[in-house]
Amino acid sequence: MARLFNRSTVRELAKMQVCKYAHKADHWSVIRKKKTHMDKALAHFDEFYANVYGKSWEDIRTALLQETHKYMAVVNSFSDIDRIKSELESHGAMNLKSIYETYKEHINAHRDKSKMKKKRKPAKKQQTDSVITDAQVSAIQSHYPIDCASLPVSPSTEKEDETEDKNKVKSGLQPVEMKSIDANLNEVMLDENRIVHPNAGLSGLYEFVPASKIKGMEDWILESQHYGYYKEGADFSINIEKEATLMFPQYLNIYTFEENNDSPFPSPKNGSTGVLDYYLLDGASVLPVLALDLQPGDVVLDMCAAPGGKTLSILQTLMPRTIVANDLSQSRVKRIHNVINQYVAGIGKWKDRLYVTERDARYIEDKDIYNKILVDVPCTTDRHVLHSEDNNIFKPQRIRERLQMPELQAAILTNALKIVAVGGTVVYSTCSLSPIQNDGVVGMALKKTWEDSNSIMVVKDMREALKPLRCLYKFHDFTLKHGHIVIPTLDNNWGPMYFCKIVRIR
Ligand code: SAM
Repeated sequence: MARLFNRSTVRELAKMQVCKYAHKADHWSVIRKKKTHMDKALAHFDEFYANVYGKSWEDIRTALLQETHKYMAVVNSFSDIDRIKSELESHGAMNLKSIYETYKEHINAHRDKSKMKKKRKPAKKQQTDSVITDAQVSAIQSHYPIDCASLPVSPSTEKEDETEDKNKVKSGLQPVEMKSIDANLNEVMLDENRIVHPNAGLSGLYEFVPASKIKGMEDWILESQHYGYYKEGADFSINIEKEATLMFPQYLNIYTFEENNDSPFPSPKNGSTGVLDYYLLDGASVLPVLALDLQPGDVVLDMCAAPGGKTLSILQTLMPRTIVANDLSQSRVKRIHNVINQYVAGIGKWKDRLYVTERDARYIEDKDIYNKILVDVPCTTDRHVLHSEDNNIFKPQRIRERLQMPELQAAILTNALKIVAVGGTVVYSTCSLSPIQNDGVVGMALKKTWEDSNSIMVVKDMREALKPLRCLYKFHDFTLKHGHIVIPTLDNNWGPMYFCKIVRIR
């Protein structure tokens, strides 16, 4: 679809929006001054995120304000899979799994080649030539220059990769030395693998914890409440383990348009089994589902499941022995039922495998039953609040809820870590850019778990596993300690989506 404006025009328009209140007061400017909840959200983000994301904030902001939110299509495994796939391909969409595999192979070949160069042996041309083998792969290559998989996502990533090589001997479980929570969190700036240097223009970020240190946060985080979570506690350790690959389940077919192509997918229609062909969800929302690494026989809990996009994606893999989709809100639980009715054929066959429950995720007590738990918590929904006044979390009536959001998120995640079976995986996710709601909450929950139980948790460092997807996603991971974040761009306008994978090993 042709763009209405080129990118520089869009940026100029975004700037004009910032300046529009700067004119001298006349009748219209007085009317304009009546701020909407969306304006309040934007003003808050401008103050907070400019500090966190530095110069990148302007581009993230421009993307977030666009109407061209980019989706992916998850093929419905309960419908006519082959027909749907070929129809999507005829529209020019590509299978995410093929993109991933192509770039993974390319990265491996590139790595082998560099190793060989280091040994001063002539590089084999065949190694790179063999990357592209079939027609679909060459279609992918025509959309994505093959080199982009090896391009760094940020200036710091190159250093990151070098450090990664140097640290190869350290692969496997890497216990981080025992430190206090404050020491651990404040040492973010010293973790050179993941944090941009303070003088690189992101000066606010390394101060992000404790919360009160963030300029612009004072107005919405009640220090008295929030500090409780960050106050000096007993020492605890965080184990970090590298994850090399992202596994794509056989029946999870996700289709996307290439970079810079924000064509909408046609509306899905009913297939021969009477259910809809595919489900559209934000292009970054598939990542927490993939991070679960679903396997046949898994017992899955989706703690905050409504309206059901991620539950449905999990279901599409046909792998779980049991899946429980839970949500607190009665009206939103209805939406899960609607999605199931629209997409799952032969629902009778699933009656002993698929359950929908309406519980507060903080208090679910089914201990050691689930080996995969998705914790897609309520958050400030940073894109949504800039586009809809409806029940906006920035409206004055919801201020208390907003202030207590990190506390609620941490309580839900802490319960997931408490009940997950040994060997099981918890994936925490939000669609917020806030470091408090993201790494901050993960830090709080890990600390609480360490204090209250004998469980040992491992945080998965998925940078290597995610590398082949850098053509499609802009990760801003050098600002993080535990998880990964996709930031919206004009080229691929999905996200934000933060996710962190935690495995209970004892
Ligand atoms: N995972 C969903 C999807 O992909 O469609 C989106 C989940 S949405 C970000 C967060 C959900 O958490 C909301 O539906 C909300 O009703 C629910 N929620 C809020 N507080 C909760 C709680 N204490 N326990 C369980 N669910 C909760």
